[in-house]
Amino acid sequence: MTEMLFCYCCRVHHAKNEMRLFRTRHGYRWRCLRSIEAARRDHGERDAFGRQQTALNRETARRAAEHNWRLRQLAES
Ligand SMILES: [Zn+2]
Repeated sequence: MTEMLFCYCCRVHHAKNEMRLFRTRHGYRWRCLRSIEAARRDHGERDAFGRQQTALNRETARRAAEHNWRLRQLAES
């Protein structure tokens, strides 16, 4: 019979060969590879989202600066 271990992430038992010891704030806990992979993917998507937001903010700032410059040109002419 396959040895089952309790996954602290899913709160169910999985087969031992799907489990890895995972370091948490409270020490090492068993966690399944699937949940570790899912968390890593989420993290990657968040990073990509953050980079996108940064680029967007930069573009917004650039446009605002350009707009200001145009207004100043109008005011000074
Ligand atoms: Zn799990």
